[in-house]
Amino acid sequence: MEKVLSRNFHHAQPLDLATYRAGGGYDSLQSIFGRDREEMVNELRASGLRGCGGAGFSTGLKWSFLAKDAPRPVYLVINLDESEPGSCKDRQVLYRDPHTIVEGVLASAYIIGADKAFVFVRGEYKVGAAKLEKAVQEARDAGLLGDNILGSGFSLDIDVHLSAGRYICGEETALLNALEGYRANPRSKPPFPAVKGLWGQPTIVNNMETVCHVPSIMHKGAQWFQGQGQNGGSGTHLFQVSGPVKNPGVFELPMGVTARELIYDHAGGLLDGRKLIAFQPGGSSTPFMTPDQLDTPMHFDAVAKIGSRLGTGGVIIMDDTICPLKYTRNLIEFYARESCGFCTPCRDGLPYLVHLFDKFELGTATAADHQTILELCGLIGPNTHCALAPGAVMPVQSALQLFDDEFKKHIAAKGCSYSPVAATASQ
Ligand code: NAD
Repeated sequence: MEKVLSRNFHHAQPLDLATYRAGGGYDSLQSIFGRDREEMVNELRASGLRGCGGAGFSTGLKWSFLAKDAPRPVYLVINLDESEPGSCKDRQVLYRDPHTIVEGVLASAYIIGADKAFVFVRGEYKVGAAKLEKAVQEARDAGLLGDNILGSGFSLDIDVHLSAGRYICGEETALLNALEGYRANPRSKPPFPAVKGLWGQPTIVNNMETVCHVPSIMHKGAQWFQGQGQNGGSGTHLFQVSGPVKNPGVFELPMGVTARELIYDHAGGLLDGRKLIAFQPGGSSTPFMTPDQLDTPMHFDAVAKIGSRLGTGGVIIMDDTICPLKYTRNLIEFYARESCGFCTPCRDGLPYLVHLFDKFELGTATAADHQTILELCGLIGPNTHCALAPGAVMPVQSALQLFDDEFKKHIAAKGCSYSPVAATASQ
């Protein structure tokens, strides 16, 4: 497997343009400029590249939704508002190799025929955004951005936009509202952004990692990309592991590496004396996986087959020192706080779930509360305006199934038997 996104991570500082180009950077443009756009979209579809922001939607298919005679201007918007707890991969590329982002955006913009590109960066990644701005300016100065790039007849500029800092801004239509200067409430879909996006114009919204895979696919081919994966996955992915492991971090590995290899070989396994109870495979909104599922290949279809979601590939570990109910409660508290407040099931339902979980920790919960959590999840999930609350209840529903005994134990014991000190240490 060849490292693509992390190939320059060993350098102490992000590479300047000259050094980046000396290592083959921007060479992909020779394979892209002048080539038929539809053919390139078809190649992308064949490569098996899927959205790396969490949803795993086929990138080539999404791009094919853009009408050939789409009204101008057409926009490309890059979602770098990485805010899902457990996800920290895009940050690494932003801080350590911003020219990889510029090259990915430029290649993708050419293929879809975008008139302008925006990179929407998480507010807390302010220092990284400045590094990206610097790379963009270097590219402008060298004629890699601007009018008639390298004599191709194609013109593009990239606007780096720093988010004001809310989780909901990463929902693609809320992000578009934020870019337009409105309150970041999600819009109804359909129409999807490919039809009606930024300022009502056709817009392709992609996660940053997704577009960074495009140059090498175009340069080396769809088959090469497929061959980078294993166990049915295509390409590489920036996996992340956090929680009580010896070597937490971000690892570029074949899509389809098993969860066991990721957690034990790359993240070093659990801290001494700790036992794996469960893990979330792709960020805080993904259903739990259990130790008997460690040999599952980490790619979208294989993880979906066992009832979870690959999401961002940001694995979060739950060990035996933390109360599973407390762990789950912390997740919901995050989503309750980050709700935009637009729709009632999300705005009122999520804080009520937190309240119910608190009753279990405080020892005042009854069997009726257990039942209410179950029913509330069923009511919230399908009845909200966007994916925030359904994402929040997925791990709760999973916890209800996996940790049924724990709910009952908390009721019987009138509280939590886990040591609060140990629980705090493992968070
Ligand atoms: P989605 O499945 O609704 O859509 C995925 C993409 O495909 C979108 O760009 C959408 O516009 C496009 N699409 C889907 N159907 C289409 C159609 N018929 N026509 C045209 N385009 C279509 O998912 P989503 O709501 O965009 O994303 C949800 C995911 O985001 C969750 O899986 C969650 O894990 C993840 N997430 C990630 C972060 C992060 O920090 N990376 C934060 C929050 C959520």
